[in-house]
Amino acid sequence: KLPTIFAITPTYRRFLQKAELTRTAQTLKHIKNLHWIVVEDSHEKTNLVKRLLNHFGIRYTHLNVRTPVEMRIGRNKPWWTKSRGTEQRNVGLKWIRDNIKANETKGVVYFADDDNTYDIRLFDEMRTINTVGVWPVAFTGAARWAGPICEDGHVVGFHTNWKPFRTFPVDMSAFAVSLKKLLVERPEARFDPDIKPGFLETSFLEQITTMEQLEPKASNCMKVYVWHTRTETPIININGEKQLIKRGKPS
Ligand code: UDP
Ligand code: MN
Repeated sequence: KLPTIFAITPTYRRFLQKAELTRTAQTLKHIKNLHWIVVEDSHEKTNLVKRLLNHFGIRYTHLNVRTPVEMRIGRNKPWWTKSRGTEQRNVGLKWIRDNIKANETKGVVYFADDDNTYDIRLFDEMRTINTVGVWPVAFTGAARWAGPICEDGHVVGFHTNWKPFRTFPVDMSAFAVSLKKLLVERPEARFDPDIKPGFLETSFLEQITTMEQLEPKASNCMKVYVWHTRTETPIININGEKQLIKRGKPS
């Protein structure tokens, strides 16, 4: 039987949310035996996300947890002081640990942010991972791509242009972890909400593996199957637009 892919996606309310989730859903729709765990950064599950999940017909679990105030990226705090999506990924992990049994289900967990661009071939690569699999990611690490450098089927180093001293200088979308590793071997591993951005991945991976143990994927890490894309926030004059609607132009 085909191993299951659990994709954990943190998401939050903003103009682009529906566009990003639509794009991601239409990618995931192509993937066999995938279970999408969508975790909203909100106090309540929103109707927008509920409707979207129902519409696409992907097997899903809908969760929510609001990032605590002191951990949120505030107006007066610089963006680089807090990591994003941390509590949400932990809630997704907890759901898997509470509901899935490693002796009944074979599979992997992947942390799929709502705004990246995924080649569906990436999911074929990750499905058969035994421990922790890795591959390159484009447009991250202040470089065209960042990720493992592999020789003879082993990771021997990393290519990155930002803080290369990190033990695992890779993006969140650069790895997937087997259920066995997360449920049986490292049942305590989680994301540290207090960690500085850019260190979340390395601090998580340090809890579960070593460079020598990593399984290179995507043709010995020679192919890019995921892009760390970021969408430009649209410029919208909400008050002006409300005036237009009042005048009865668009319906
Ligand atoms: N995210 C979230 N709450 C926030 C900010 C981000 O849940 O306050 C989610 C977001 O939807 C995405 C992930 O966390 O799935 C990573 O955030 P983002 O893409 O903004 O980070 P970047 O790619 O810029 O590092
Ligand atoms: Mn992003």
